[in-house]
Amino acid sequence: MSHLILCGPCGYAENKKNAEKWCTICEEGLCTDCEQVHKSIKTTRNHRLISTEDFRQIQNISISLNCKDHNKRLELYCKTHDVAVCLGCVPSHHRACSDVISLDKAAENAKHSTALADLQDTLTIALQNLQQIINDRSAALENLDGQKQTIKNTINDTRARIMKKLDDLEQKIFLELDTQHGKCKSEVNKLLTDRLKNSERDLNCLKEQTSQLKLFASDVQLFLGTRQIN
Ligand SMILES: [Zn+2]
Ligand SMILES: [Zn+2]
Ligand SMILES: [Zn+2]
Ligand SMILES: [Zn+2]
Repeated sequence: MSHLILCGPCGYAENKKNAEKWCTICEEGLCTDCEQVHKSIKTTRNHRLISTEDFRQIQNISISLNCKDHNKRLELYCKTHDVAVCLGCVPSHHRACSDVISLDKAAENAKHSTALADLQDTLTIALQNLQQIINDRSAALENLDGQKQTIKNTINDTRARIMKKLDDLEQKIFLELDTQHGKCKSEVNKLLTDRLKNSERDLNCLKEQTSQLKLFASDVQLFLGTRQIN
């Protein structure tokens, strides 16, 4: 419940009393007693009273009932200029205007006026547009989340594929290394067993022959043999 609305006339007499009604003309609250007085006095008899509950609905909507140039109540309406005016406005700005009528008269049927209907339509459309924008932005927000996840997934996938490529490459290089290692090993083995062993055998043979020559050949044979074997 918003704060209490106090009775204006009672407040003027420095009494605090809760208002039950609100006078839309005097713009103040009225307790039950003051409401009766308000309704009985000739000048205020026809003032439109609303319940304080209803007043709370429009309490925060600021509509000035006074002329901002003269700070007097707006009482007239100039049809020519389509503007509400106070008594002070007429001599200065609307002296020549032929169609100045009372504001009450102009405001008759305001509830059913096309201006009000247009305003309500405009507000409805503006609200729809705003809701559309809010929906769009909400969807965009969700899209952003989705896009972030997609990019994350792509990065993870790419990383996994690069790692797999590296693993495959490593595997391939190891295989190649094994092959080359085996090949080199067998070549060295072959060299060792075939060629070097052969050379060893040949050298042993020559050494044996040289020893035989030394033992049994003539000096000339030995002389020639030494040079030929070298
Ligand atoms: Zn009162
Ligand atoms: Zn009043
Ligand atoms: Zn004025
Ligand atoms: Zn005018």
